[in-house]
Amino acid sequence: MITKLSYIKNLLERSIQIEKFKYKLIIYAITAVHILLVGLFSVLRIYPMIIFNIGSVITYLKCISIIKYGYEKELIRTFYITYVEIIIHSFVAAIFVGWRFGFSQYTIGLIPFGYYMCVTLIEDSKKKYLVPTLLGLAALLSFVGCRMISMFTGSIYQLNVSPALELAIYIFNSICNFGFLFLVTLVFIMDMQAATNLLRNQNVALDNMASIDPLTGLYNRRSMQDFFNSAIKTEENFCLIMCDIDNFKKVNDTYGHDFGDVVLKEISQIIRTHVAGHGFVCRWGGEEILIMTKVPLDYTCKIAESIRSSVEEHLFVWNETTIHCSLTLGVAVHRIGNVVEDTITHADRRLYYGKKNGKNRVISPFDVP
Ligand code: GH3
Ligand code: MG
Ligand code: MG
Repeated sequence: MITKLSYIKNLLERSIQIEKFKYKLIIYAITAVHILLVGLFSVLRIYPMIIFNIGSVITYLKCISIIKYGYEKELIRTFYITYVEIIIHSFVAAIFVGWRFGFSQYTIGLIPFGYYMCVTLIEDSKKKYLVPTLLGLAALLSFVGCRMISMFTGSIYQLNVSPALELAIYIFNSICNFGFLFLVTLVFIMDMQAATNLLRNQNVALDNMASIDPLTGLYNRRSMQDFFNSAIKTEENFCLIMCDIDNFKKVNDTYGHDFGDVVLKEISQIIRTHVAGHGFVCRWGGEEILIMTKVPLDYTCKIAESIRSSVEEHLFVWNETTIHCSLTLGVAVHRIGNVVEDTITHADRRLYYGKKNGKNRVISPFDVP
């Protein structure tokens, strides 16, 4: 139980670390763009923008350290800071240098970024969609607002740059913006892929839990019923071997239930090895194991005999105690049109015949019709 809990704790811790890593990646990308913008505005000598971008870089570096040590609440705070910073940056750029260089494009990338972050970080099922939608509308208004500001009021700096440089700055901003969109989309797709894989693995685990007996690792009774149904559907003949451990109560009483479990598990493993590729093995009851084979009766009898002799020869070891055990097996054949319950009864009947006649033996239809 404790190992299971610590496993879940580790898993959660790992998923938080992965979340943080992805978010940090996005913030690193934004910081890198701002560092480049410091360089660009230095070349253009637009000092307010240099100061603004230096301030932004410092803020983002602080955000990165918060992400490293903080939890969900701190992460969402850094996300809001990022969002607001990008919007303000667009306005400041529109006011100082105007629209034509494409600095306002960055508000477009905020939409997928906002949805991704809110859906990942906000617990409330309504808020996680409402908040990014409102933020997205704010981004849209900012985008349009920047255009209107530069149209109606003009920019403070009348930059006299060549058309080639103007185009280069515009392309630089486009590349950064598209790069950001690529990054957020990629992170989103990676998350989706991880969620799909997790779901698939959970389904496999649930399937196993529903069809496998946890102690022996054999199929459970429900699964055997499915194998019967499918054999009946495809009109296949099959054979059944009902196995029961001899004097198992005595093993439990003498050596304890834990040793009994070890015996049951090891016998299950021996049976599984002998039946592999020829049929299915299920834990039918407490220490009763039912085998379904898809091979002819004489071959099934050979399998039953090899199981019996292997168990007889096997040495069961537990806490320096060693014992020998044996199995009694009853074989029955099921032909098209027979009722499965009748075939099980035949196998059971032969098993109890074996029990009454000395145990540790295989009783087939050749011995008891
Ligand atoms: P027989 O040779 O006639 O089969 O004698 P037996 O002592 O094996 O008698 P029976 O088959 O009736 O006993 C079944 C015993 O198996 C009783 C129960 O305590 C034990 N048992 C059933 N399931 C488990 C299990 O999961 N673990 C352990 N350790 N014992 C189990
Ligand atoms: Mg029994
Ligand atoms: Mg028994």
